[in-house]
Amino acid sequence: MKKIVADWKANAREDLNENTAFLKSIPKNKKIDDLAFDLHEEVFKKVDCLQCANCCKTTPALVTRPDAKRIAKHLSIPHKTFIRKYLLEDINGELMIARVPCTFLNEDNTCQIYDVRPQACREYPHTNQSGFSRRSKMNANNTIVCPAVYEIVKQLKKVSF
Ligand code: SF4
Ligand code: SF4
Repeated sequence: MKKIVADWKANAREDLNENTAFLKSIPKNKKIDDLAFDLHEEVFKKVDCLQCANCCKTTPALVTRPDAKRIAKHLSIPHKTFIRKYLLEDINGELMIARVPCTFLNEDNTCQIYDVRPQACREYPHTNQSGFSRRSKMNANNTIVCPAVYEIVKQLKKVSF
């Protein structure tokens, strides 16, 4: 883990343009998605999110309406109160957690609402989901947020297509 995080800290920003171009250039197909899935499994054996939490510290999590209802119920507050107190709505009407670091992040990097957390948090960084190869912009942006994504892309660059 330490080696992956140190490499990410030292190089991710400098490599962003190269990684963006690379991710744009890869074939958009299931073979690449499956490769990314395998790399995701391999890399996350070495990366402990509880030692990191950089996504929760730096990126406002998207919250769907069903997420908001579920979390409000868990907190025993009205849905509208939850939205007003904890969320922001962007110009497209999408909701997101209003604060970074996230309001629900504990000091030990655990999540106060883990069992009911937003779907986007559950699925982040999305590298094990179908359609990986078509999400080049998001994956490139995530290389500077998530050490695991940076490592997955680094390993993917070693493969000849
Ligand atoms: S940034 Fe990546 S490695 Fe860090 S906690 Fe989030 S998903 Fe895990
Ligand atoms: S809700 Fe939990 S998992 Fe999602 S950003 Fe906040 S602390 Fe992280």
